[in-house]
Amino acid sequence: QSTAVLIIGAGPAGLVLGNLLLAAGVDCTVVERQSRAHVEQRARAGFLAAHTVRVLTEHGLADGLHMYGQQHDICAFRTDSGEFQLAYGALGRGEVHTVYPQQDLVRDLVAEFLARGGDLRFDTAALRIDGLDGDSASVTVRTPDGSERLLHARYVAGCDGQHGISRSAVPAGAVRHYRRDHGVSWLALLAAAPQSMAAVAYAVHQDGFAGHMARSPEVTRYYLQCDAGTDPGSWTHDRIWAELHHRMRADRHGPLREGGILERRVVDMRSDVLDPIQYGRLFLVGDAAGLISPSAAKGANLAVMESEILARGLADRLGGGDGQLLARYSADCLPRIWRAQEFSHWMINLLHGPSGDDDEAVFLRALQRARLESLRDSRRHQDHFAENYVGI
Ligand code: FAD
Repeated sequence: QSTAVLIIGAGPAGLVLGNLLLAAGVDCTVVERQSRAHVEQRARAGFLAAHTVRVLTEHGLADGLHMYGQQHDICAFRTDSGEFQLAYGALGRGEVHTVYPQQDLVRDLVAEFLARGGDLRFDTAALRIDGLDGDSASVTVRTPDGSERLLHARYVAGCDGQHGISRSAVPAGAVRHYRRDHGVSWLALLAAAPQSMAAVAYAVHQDGFAGHMARSPEVTRYYLQCDAGTDPGSWTHDRIWAELHHRMRADRHGPLREGGILERRVVDMRSDVLDPIQYGRLFLVGDAAGLISPSAAKGANLAVMESEILARGLADRLGGGDGQLLARYSADCLPRIWRAQEFSHWMINLLHGPSGDDDEAVFLRALQRARLESLRDSRRHQDHFAENYVGI
């Protein structure tokens, strides 16, 4: 069986790419190892950048997010010396976030892809990719009945995340792998409670960072910095809420609305970038191309940006173009990926200070304080922050 583009993975990257290719009249197949129910319930991102909303709107993929998404344009920083707010929608380029849970976006994208007649195969895992240097590639998949099957494609889009098989199909030495472990972990929580304030709140605290982010009218995401290797189950309901109240300084800034903890997982702040993000007939997109720590909420937004650039290149090439646009995919994406990485790294240093009383820790905490004060006091710094916070 043969298709023009075989897309591995039905996350935001694969589904946006698939929808854009169908709209451009390009034949494609998406294979996803999980079930439809699984991908439509997997809660992760929520903050969509203005560019993401523009791309989805232009391609008729944004009905759900315009109907149910909430606009967010304020963030607050809480420190020992009080709270300051940045109305970032009125700073920088004047752009705002749309908050729409990733699983809802995925559900919309699946529905649209199928409504456009797309070939989307759930419970179908890609096992091996061959022929990337030849005239056509082939991907061995395991079908829902457990048998193996060979799918042929002119191009393969690796949209299967950081742990997918696409990355490992690139021969060692063909790409440079940049990586960093930021040495910080977050307990990522979803609480069955409405947001406690109309802002994203970042609390910088000597006992560790805490964060508050809206997701939907009934669900709020919270983060608590924790030790690497923490068992999420070791945090009881009472301990979670006590720590959130303590680090968010609820006594000074108002109480948090409590609710049952729907999901808890530990996320290590790690980043990596592959360069280039193409090898032969394989193009890496989204988390497969590079992982970005969730400190600045950029991962899903980068995935959409890369999908749009790749869709244009593939449509041009498969529509008879000279292939130059497609050949530029990696060079077009990487500067934007690195800019997002830089901002995300800066956010990590803004939100976390080292513990301890040795000279280096004390020095770095003083720098962190200076960074926060500059953001509080300098309009130019705020404009720069806003542009990078919402931009991609
Ligand atoms: P994924 O969403 O990981 O999709 C990859 C798909 O490939 C999966 O469905 C997987 O099952 C499938 N797959 C894997 N291997 C195979 C295989 N062999 N065969 C077939 N299918 C396969 N980003 C933001 O922009 N804003 C946020 O607010 C934000 N918050 C986050 C909060 C948390 C707690 C976390 C963990 C992440 C957050 N992110 C955020 C990051 C964002 O969720 C990811 O960057 C995004 O999911 C990447 O999309 P993707 O399509 O590249 O990969």
